[in-house]
Amino acid sequence: MVKAEAVHKSFGAAHVLKGIDLEVAPREVFCLIGPSGSGKSTFLRCINHLEQVSAGRLYVDGELVGYRQKGDKLYELRDSEVALKRRDIGMVFQRFNLFPHMTAIENIMEAPMQVRHEPKAIARARAEKLLDRVGLADKANGYPSQLSGGQQQRVAIARALAMEPKLMLFDEPTSALDPELVGDVLDVMRDLAESGMTMIVVTHEMGFAREVGDALVFMDDGVVVESGHPRDVLTNPQHERTKSFLSKVL
Ligand code: ATP
Ligand code: MG
Repeated sequence: MVKAEAVHKSFGAAHVLKGIDLEVAPREVFCLIGPSGSGKSTFLRCINHLEQVSAGRLYVDGELVGYRQKGDKLYELRDSEVALKRRDIGMVFQRFNLFPHMTAIENIMEAPMQVRHEPKAIARARAEKLLDRVGLADKANGYPSQLSGGQQQRVAIARALAMEPKLMLFDEPTSALDPELVGDVLDVMRDLAESGMTMIVVTHEMGFAREVGDALVFMDDGVVVESGHPRDVLTNPQHERTKSFLSKVL
């Protein structure tokens, strides 16, 4: 579903991704861990067309991200082409980023109506189902400011799912939450994983990675240091850098 071949990303002189190679299979829950500044968010942002890779090849669902290839030349995609591709990818951030002036259900209905021009009744019916799925059927008419952080994050997940994405990206979705609210969000993510969604999850929740993850990558300083099954990497890390990182977070 996602394939990275020697992916590099620089911001000016700052070389942030230094040759990332990895592959995420369909229906896989792929966890990404690593210290602050190692490039985890940058990598997710490249997958979601929020950043353009500087070198290497990144594919989503077999298609090159950000570029079109003709012969051996690459051409940058037009904004309209990027917009079409982004529809297939849902992303959930650390901060919930809900539209503050819209209710929970309106937040979820917005993209299908605006982007896909769906009739309101259809968008509403799907949004109701999604709210039920994330355990918030009774909060449909609540505004973000009236919801807890965990509830807002579950609405943000429902909003991403409303576009029926092929791939979901999570960038530390529980890091900004009070500890007692984390579990509900992880439960929603676990359900989503069980439904077969392909997910890339940047997280500090090692319990989630171990129980739900199919693969785990430890990144440091823009490279993949170690990867494998979460149980193996977490209980029997091979590299010093992985050991040292895990000793701080476990
Ligand atoms: P954290 O765990 O703190 O979220 P991260 O692994 O997600 O860290 P990134 O946000 O990907 O790290 O950042 C990696 C490096 O890239 C950092 O040094 C950051 O300062 C730099 N960086 C990210 N975005 C930009 C940008 N738009 N311009 C310049 N530098 C950037
Ligand atoms: Mg980050």
